[in-house]
Amino acid sequence: QLYNKMIDLKGNVRVFCRCRPLSAAEATAGATAITEFDSAKNDELVIHNSNISKKLFKFDRVFTPYDDQAEVFAETAPVVISVLDGYNVCIFAYGQTGTGKTFTMEGTPSNRGVNYRTLQELFSIVDQRKGQVNYEISVSVLEVYNEQIRDLLNTSAQSGAPLKKLEIKQVAEGGLHVPGLVEAEVHNINQVWDVLQSGSSSRAIGSTNANEHSSRSHCMLCVKVKGENIMTGECTRSKLWLVDLAGSERVAKSDVHGERLKEAQNINKSLAALGDVIHALTTKSSHIPYRNSKLTHLLQDSLGGESKTLMFLQISPNETDMGETLCSLNFASRVR
Ligand code: ADP
Ligand code: MG
Repeated sequence: QLYNKMIDLKGNVRVFCRCRPLSAAEATAGATAITEFDSAKNDELVIHNSNISKKLFKFDRVFTPYDDQAEVFAETAPVVISVLDGYNVCIFAYGQTGTGKTFTMEGTPSNRGVNYRTLQELFSIVDQRKGQVNYEISVSVLEVYNEQIRDLLNTSAQSGAPLKKLEIKQVAEGGLHVPGLVEAEVHNINQVWDVLQSGSSSRAIGSTNANEHSSRSHCMLCVKVKGENIMTGECTRSKLWLVDLAGSERVAKSDVHGERLKEAQNINKSLAALGDVIHALTTKSSHIPYRNSKLTHLLQDSLGGESKTLMFLQISPNETDMGETLCSLNFASRVR
């Protein structure tokens, strides 16, 4: 309960900026960092190089290259945990390819990210509340690629068959339903890990370059929670979305043709739609344009209202990425 109060005070949309470290290769090549952090101000970032004067950016929180997965999760936990109290929650990682979106969300097997840590925390609280609330938790893993929704847990995907395409249906009271989407019931964190692994493995199927494919599609994890208060019989249903977005980098029109151009246009369209929806929500606009992309349509009942939204804005410290970094920072200043 304390968690929710903290969040309400700050509004329902929060933006965290996370800067990755320079890679060993960049450091060896003598790369210059344009990012400056002030250890006394953990919500500010300065961008600075010889061509531009200092630009200051403020966020709800800024994570430097030295902040590890545990520190990032410590700030994230209050938001995700409110799903157990019946709130819908969306967490996104936004940014240019190579800035650490997947590192933040998925992490690595030895250094797990927000997805795994979130479910671990959820199960730990479910255990603490045993005897008071009965919870049922399920997980879906899907991908939006070229404005098509694909189910990454559909077992036919593992046998190499084309991934099943899904549609979004409106149900009563403004809710959404994706008929046919696999919802894997999970009872403990080990089951979650298996589900996440099988989701990632079907993601790569059918693409010649798994890394490229993943940077051009939105990977979405949906955790559904049903809670039943044992004393009162009162039920809550809520959803938590954990989204590793497609790379936000612009591609030069002259560089792309055919399929690649279509991909780029679809990515642009859906990221712009996401920005428009969050902007409309933060400015309390009367029309929220959810229907402009599959991404925002899927999230329609989980963005806005009482829902909580957290955006990780991932950036590179490298001077050579400055153009994209400034674009991402501008995107964030628009949604906030
Ligand atoms: P994206 O998903 O945005 O394309 P990745 O998550 O694949 O980017 O990150 C690119 C590389 O940088 C990976 O090798 C990743 O392990 C590394 N990396 C990203 N963020 C961090 C970080 N905060 N600390 C250490 N390594 C990181
Ligand atoms: Mg990635």
